[in-house]
Amino acid sequence: MNQTPVRITDTTFRDGHQSLLATRMRTDDMLDLLRKMDAVGLHSLEVWGGATFDVCTRFLGEDPWERLERIREVAPNTKLQMLLRGQNIVGYRNYADDVVEGFVKHAAEAGIDIFRVFDALNDPRNFETAVRAIKATGKHFQAALSYSLTERRLGGPVFNVEYFVDKAKTFRDMGADSICLKDMAGLFHPDDAATLVTALKEGVGLPVQLHTHYTSGMASMAYLKAVEAGVDVIDCALSPFAMRTGQPAIEPMVAALFGTAWDPKLDLDALIGISSELEKIAPLYRDFLAVNRMAVIDTGVLKHQVPGGMLSNLVNQLKEADALDRIGEVYEELPRVRKDLGTCPLVTPTSQIVGIQAVQNVLFGRYEMITAQVKDYAYGLYGRPPRPMNPELREKALAKYHRGTQPIDGRPGDILPPELPDAKKDIGGLAKTERDLLTYALYPTTGRRFLEWKYGVKPMPDDVKKGKTLAQVEREDRLIDAVKKGTFSGEPHMDMGASRTLQVSVGGEHYEVQVAQVGDRPVGGVPMAAPMAFAPAAAPPAVGAPSGATSAPVSGTQVKAPMPGVVIRYEVAEGDVVTKGQKLMILEAMKMENTLSAPVGGVVLKIHLGAGQNVAKDAVLITLGAS
Ligand code: MN
Repeated sequence: MNQTPVRITDTTFRDGHQSLLATRMRTDDMLDLLRKMDAVGLHSLEVWGGATFDVCTRFLGEDPWERLERIREVAPNTKLQMLLRGQNIVGYRNYADDVVEGFVKHAAEAGIDIFRVFDALNDPRNFETAVRAIKATGKHFQAALSYSLTERRLGGPVFNVEYFVDKAKTFRDMGADSICLKDMAGLFHPDDAATLVTALKEGVGLPVQLHTHYTSGMASMAYLKAVEAGVDVIDCALSPFAMRTGQPAIEPMVAALFGTAWDPKLDLDALIGISSELEKIAPLYRDFLAVNRMAVIDTGVLKHQVPGGMLSNLVNQLKEADALDRIGEVYEELPRVRKDLGTCPLVTPTSQIVGIQAVQNVLFGRYEMITAQVKDYAYGLYGRPPRPMNPELREKALAKYHRGTQPIDGRPGDILPPELPDAKKDIGGLAKTERDLLTYALYPTTGRRFLEWKYGVKPMPDDVKKGKTLAQVEREDRLIDAVKKGTFSGEPHMDMGASRTLQVSVGGEHYEVQVAQVGDRPVGGVPMAAPMAFAPAAAPPAVGAPSGATSAPVSGTQVKAPMPGVVIRYEVAEGDVVTKGQKLMILEAMKMENTLSAPVGGVVLKIHLGAGQNVAKDAVLITLGAS
């Protein structure tokens, strides 16, 4: 039995807030804590990658590259770690090799020591370019295996011990410095964690790190068993940002191992002190915490296998689409879609691909609306799934696919031409550095919007400055105030004053509604009969108020946003004559690109919103008239 001290990676500033708080923690709130964490003697600090890049540019108006440099500055003694989605980098699709190479080079220069690389399909071909780039920088390449199950326990025809050991050997031969078991949904049975750690240690000969989530409630038990089986490193987070759908808390783990052969010998008092510092900042983000259930664990994950990040996204997005009541149906649909897609592990981006297709199947009928990502997936752009995809779905998805109707079998990166030259041409002088260019290449719509904010081409909206929805801005101001003054009461919900503003659509008209608080009932519980003051929307078009609210309405057939999202581009112009079913525009919703088609034939009378604009559900995007 291995009896050396276990080491700990802290994930508070990446996966911790990504899993619990929609990745909304701001750099300014991190730095003091990181300065203290730097002195603790951790194996590493996971601080970057995953969703942090997207959220920084999309919601926080923060430059992710600058965040990394600032973190490096305050934490010079601890290794900094990032999560890299292989050929997906920090996005949701496979990028061309030149983007991967440029990204890795700059990430290493800005401060990353350990690159944890994974691929949703565990397809080694999606690691190749990233690995070559990491090796060129001399940094640590950790190969993460996306842990997945087809049954309750490890084993069965797909995800068995041999599957994972074989994959790990492949990554070792590609130059991996360590192996990570990445259990994004918290599925690890404690004995299976021990079994797999033992098999990897014996069969592969590399250090093994275990990453799991508390979601199902088994994570701490899995860690203890894995530690006893000789795991080298475990991932934990400071307690305020731990457990639930995040990592096990670091403090009880250190306490539980105290005096054992595996004692990580970290200063428990120091960690408790840092956690109480974090506890003072945490209220700023509590709106993002899912508090719709009593249990802090979700045993349903044992059935639906949806990872924590996706779970909070799914709930939030369904809520915004007024369809939260259908989450049960979505859970039923998920395993079916997953099977149709070749029993893929569920992790970004496959979790989104499966999740959003499942949502669309429930809302619009099974495969009535196939997302662009499912089409790319069917073509082979995401790599090879563990099992063949459902041939009928593949055929349907590729029926009118722009790249071709016959799927590819080679490395997806091989068919993608370099992207940076075109990106450079498109963005022009707005990208002042190579890092700006990478930001744009990764996220053309929100990346361009971010660069416009960054260089003052357009003013940064208030909700972005605060990283919140507009309705939350006022409340957050009060919260910041209370936290700063030390008068925050710690009550479950802040007093939100006499009313709060909601945005509603009634019969296609957009209103801002003041919902007044009645007596001492919390605002969230105000019944529909509560006094409401209706006023025509003063909301700017940026949040999706149809322009009809501010200018003369255009009569005709309205094409509305089926869910909240961002306008990517229009495929038609005003005055164009279109046929029924013709592709009109691309709306990015739930981080996936969705094609909206013409419900009827006619002429495009009006295009209401520009590319890059946020839209609310039911916002009018296009008005069609009789041609
Ligand atoms: Mn994770």
